[in-house]
Amino acid sequence: GFRRTAIRPNRLVVRARDEPLVPPTAEITVQYHDSMIELIGNTPLVKLNSVTEGIKATVLAKVEYFNPGGSVKDRIAVRMIEAAEKSGELKPGGTIVEPTSGNTGVGLAMVAQQKGYKCVFVCPDKVSQDKINVLRAYGAEVVVCPTAVDPEHPDSYYNVSDRLVREIPNAWKPDQYSNQNNPLSHYYSTGPEVWEQTEGKITHFVAGVGTGGTISGTGRYLKEVSDGRVKVVGSDPEGSVYSGGSGRPYLIEGVGEDFWPTAYDGTVTDEIIAVSDKDAFQMTRRLAREEGLLVGGSCGMAVVSALRLAERLTEDDVVVVLLPDSGRGYLSKIFNDEWMADYGFLEEAGDDARVADVLRRKDGELP
Ligand code: PMP
Repeated sequence: GFRRTAIRPNRLVVRARDEPLVPPTAEITVQYHDSMIELIGNTPLVKLNSVTEGIKATVLAKVEYFNPGGSVKDRIAVRMIEAAEKSGELKPGGTIVEPTSGNTGVGLAMVAQQKGYKCVFVCPDKVSQDKINVLRAYGAEVVVCPTAVDPEHPDSYYNVSDRLVREIPNAWKPDQYSNQNNPLSHYYSTGPEVWEQTEGKITHFVAGVGTGGTISGTGRYLKEVSDGRVKVVGSDPEGSVYSGGSGRPYLIEGVGEDFWPTAYDGTVTDEIIAVSDKDAFQMTRRLAREEGLLVGGSCGMAVVSALRLAERLTEDDVVVVLLPDSGRGYLSKIFNDEWMADYGFLEEAGDDARVADVLRRKDGELP
């Protein structure tokens, strides 16, 4: 069996009102971090208690919104930038140009701001305005491109970013889709963290696949350290190539692809479990209401995959599912009833049954 108390008990210290803040004779140590960059990583694991009803395995969420930029992508930002500084690809005062759905942009913008680089980001138009506003708040420039064109089209966000790299002097494109420092950042941080936090008891790792960096780097580390014992399961939106789709549109942001990026190492994943927009978004809302986890749509998606996997497992299994970002960027979409209803995402068989049940109770047919 698996038992573990809180890893980082975060209890508030309550002081008596007349107790001096610092005992007069004690040596005073000022505790601080040199910059926000130092706060990247070391995110907590939190057990899922409600959405796991009926499941025997332990399901633990790795909550990446605790990163200073609010997502898992802070990890890749710092490693890609520091590697480019070392290799000389990124020169002092240079400009970082990247196609990104927001989270990588925030990570890059935050690290770039600390190190004196400019940023220009290129986003598809399905990305929420909230996310674009966040990038602009960090001082980055944002160019928005149509989602409904194929990757070869000159207006596709991949091609627009390539053109900007050619036109802007001293520009550098990290290219999270091919940059091996993307998966490596997870190989050197996310993987070891999960292994240590579970004291090696993890049996399954589940993560959404976008660039594939998270699953490839974390998965490779966990397989190596466990001699292949840990199973690695990808979560993918229905329609995306990773789960055999044609690349047709879906609404979950930050995951799925219409091409195969080289940051993704398909040999690491044992299985891919595809999830519909509707299931992903309904789970995202449940995570907020039942687990106190206000997270993004790709988190709901990953949890649906994790639960479908966990249904087949036993009480000896420990599933870690990575939740990439916060729900704050999706308040006008997933957490907006009108938006959800427009897409028919609020309808479910269970709803009708529940309404009928309430009406019967009112009629006095049920106790
Ligand atoms: N979820 C969100 C919200 C993301 O922004 C990303 C990154 N594209 C992912 C999941 C997937 O992570 P990765 O690119 O490492 O596969």
